[in-house]
Amino acid sequence: MKYISTRGKAPVLSFDDVLLAGLAEDGGLYVPEAWPEFSAQEMREMAGLPYEEVVFRVVRPFVEGVIADAELKDLIRRSYADFRHSAVAPLKQIDSRLWVMELFNGPTLAFKDFALQMLGRLFDLILKKRDERVVIVGATSGDTGSAAIEACRDRDQISIFILHPHGRVSDVQRRQMTTVQAGNVFNIAIHGDFDNCQDNVKAMFNDMDFRRAVNLSAVNSINWARIMAQIAYYFVAGIALGAPDRPVGFSVPTGNFGNVFAAYAAGRMGLPVSQLIVGSNRNDILTRFFETGAMTMESVEPSLSPSMDIQISSNFERLLFDMLGRDGAAVAQTMTDFRSRGEFSVSDAQLSSVLRLFDGFRLSDEDTLKEIRHYHETTGELLDPHSVISVVAAREKIRDDVPVMACMATAHPAKFPDAVSKASGVHPELPAHLSDLFEREERFEVMDNDLDALKEFVLSHRRNV
Ligand SMILES: *Cc1c(COP(=O)(O)O)cnc(C)c1O
Repeated sequence: MKYISTRGKAPVLSFDDVLLAGLAEDGGLYVPEAWPEFSAQEMREMAGLPYEEVVFRVVRPFVEGVIADAELKDLIRRSYADFRHSAVAPLKQIDSRLWVMELFNGPTLAFKDFALQMLGRLFDLILKKRDERVVIVGATSGDTGSAAIEACRDRDQISIFILHPHGRVSDVQRRQMTTVQAGNVFNIAIHGDFDNCQDNVKAMFNDMDFRRAVNLSAVNSINWARIMAQIAYYFVAGIALGAPDRPVGFSVPTGNFGNVFAAYAAGRMGLPVSQLIVGSNRNDILTRFFETGAMTMESVEPSLSPSMDIQISSNFERLLFDMLGRDGAAVAQTMTDFRSRGEFSVSDAQLSSVLRLFDGFRLSDEDTLKEIRHYHETTGELLDPHSVISVVAAREKIRDDVPVMACMATAHPAKFPDAVSKASGVHPELPAHLSDLFEREERFEVMDNDLDALKEFVLSHRRNV
């Protein structure tokens, strides 16, 4: 399998190089040169298989020639061993045509574990083969940091440094990061806000000498391997609900467009996906795009579903590439315009081509609380403020010709206890493996917003080559 950039100018790469590169050299995102496809018979054979086995079958064509079958099987087994549910991604009915797929049984209680648990191990495997080490740096306002840390902890070839704004991350989120006791994990609380943290990370990447000296890398949401790992649960859900003999829809609470792009990819690979609903909160740039065909940047406003508080959705470029007929130059032009003008539009024909599959939906904070209460009262399920958006979006937007729809539940309610208890009157309990989170010892450095001091800290604490 070879990978090409959405902007058409970067070298064609194999899986291992795409994994380590993240972003393409021309600023684009890597996508497979051609989608592998499963026949109806191959999908029927996936029915009832253990989660890990479906991942193996789905991922195999993407890594062929780079990772041997036995290695891949072992890596997948270890990636999902720490999930606290024997089904890994259990599917529950919530209404006559609606099902909820729980993607929050991983170590940090959010769906990002599905991709990152594999990504950390893929990095380690490829780096070992090359006898290389990397330093991963990242900034977090709370959610992604813990998933990245859990993914990289104890990996021999990786050191990870995560910056968070001191005193501005919730207690649960901070403790999920700072109580990880591993020699290669460094939490740094910066005197400043999230933007300061992010600016420091960007500045480290822009310092080419430093970047080379420590072999700087990231595990951010545009990495192809993250999408790849997420495709598997769409096959699991779709096949459990009757595919390939019955079409299925998906409703996905969306931020960077990574998760819903994985659903789209499953469709390209043969799963009969007949509708994809993109759910948003008040930060509704995607919903407005599907309504109007115009992508218009606006400022971000905080909401009850903070992991969807985005200004732009970086993975959307992968869909745009298909919308523009896989024309890299056209994508590059569109993205340049978008950066400079904060806006781009597609033609009516291009918009209607994606509207055959996609719909957008937004839910206000007020309705988010109301709907959490409604579903708790009528089904007994406690949905977190992200997951509830997918369920309401499905209820409101499912088309008559779509027999069943799976709604993605992306976070455990205990990750957002304030909103959930305010809405439902029930305080969501942390699962057993985190029940002593508030007794665990924390470890983090508090540092000034000082780039040179941060670089010095990274240089002296990373695992040495
Ligand atoms: C990251 C995240 C999302 C958004 O996912 P994207 O792949 O960025 O669209 C939704 N819900 C939760 C809980 C998340 O952590």
